[in-house]
Amino acid sequence: MTPEQLQRAWVLQAQADAERGVLECRMCRMRGLLEETTTLWRNGLLVFALCDRCAGSHDVVFSPTPAGVEVRARRRRPTELVTQEALHVRSHP
Ligand SMILES: [Zn+2]
Repeated sequence: MTPEQLQRAWVLQAQADAERGVLECRMCRMRGLLEETTTLWRNGLLVFALCDRCAGSHDVVFSPTPAGVEVRARRRRPTELVTQEALHVRSHP
């Protein structure tokens, strides 16, 4: 299957799933609840879904293109996560 055919098949399945309140994450293919999923709609059609777990560990960029919407996901680097953890360190009075 071409990427376009795969996308069409996913969109059809996602549309049916969304009506039942669940969605398949486009990245990890796991099904999750609609309210724990970030969704992207275009022209009334669901074109992309990302579960909170994937969204939390990736930087995701949506860019509209003439052919549709391009989605780029980049895994966050562990060094950045260490920096985030350091922000939660309790400061001494
Ligand atoms: Zn996922």
